[in-house]
Amino acid sequence: MRQKLIVGNWKMNGSLAANASLLSAIERGLSAPRCQVAVCVPAPYLAQCQQLLGNGVVAWGAQDVSAQAEGAYTGEVAAGMLQDFACRYVIVGHSERRTYHGESSDLVAKKAVQALASGLVPIVCVGETLAQREAGQTEQVVGEQLQALLAALAKDEISNLVIAYEPVWAIGTGRTATPEMAQQVHAFLRAQLAAANSEAAQQVAILYGGSMKPDNAQQLLAQADIDGGLIGGAALKAQDFLAIIAAAETN
Ligand code: PEP
Repeated sequence: MRQKLIVGNWKMNGSLAANASLLSAIERGLSAPRCQVAVCVPAPYLAQCQQLLGNGVVAWGAQDVSAQAEGAYTGEVAAGMLQDFACRYVIVGHSERRTYHGESSDLVAKKAVQALASGLVPIVCVGETLAQREAGQTEQVVGEQLQALLAALAKDEISNLVIAYEPVWAIGTGRTATPEMAQQVHAFLRAQLAAANSEAAQQVAILYGGSMKPDNAQQLLAQADIDGGLIGGAALKAQDFLAIIAAAETN
């Protein structure tokens, strides 16, 4: 049985002072969570996470990683550098990076390869736009995004992935996929994983992301193939983040 995983994506939010108060409120609200919890923070705050969360129950990670191991790539952060700060996770291929930074599925796959090579767990995001959903292309789009990733990995690496299904039209919009809509895509993604490695497919956590909030988390997380959440806005409020974790603990 897969344990649920709740990951906060802080995006480009935070400050030393605000992070300290948010992290301490999250830690105060969690003693022995019955699910995995992590926060993915802006890279400059990884040292702060390592210091404040070091021996606790909340893991931390970054929101992007370079597709290169090292060298003349100004502004990039290598997977080995994230490992230096004891990151467990790194988000790759978030739709905001695919859209605003033109990241292709092949580049996202290379980033995932770098993350895995440094012992990090890549949280690989896939998702369709509203126009693609309305054109009936959801499975084709997320299928192609996933296949580009699987093509870059060895079969035995698949179990080390986390996948996040994030419909682009639901991110930061307050619109959420219904539990049934999300479950359908999650089941499709798991079947694609199973075609590549059936044993690994049962182990891979497939998270839902897109306006997950305390009032819809329970129903989403009750779906058979929804193994957790990637949480944006609600991860910036300790009370909301804790309520989503509580919903994950009961599923
Ligand atoms: C995200 O940024 O990954 C996300 C799902 O954001 P939100 O929860 O705000 O929609």
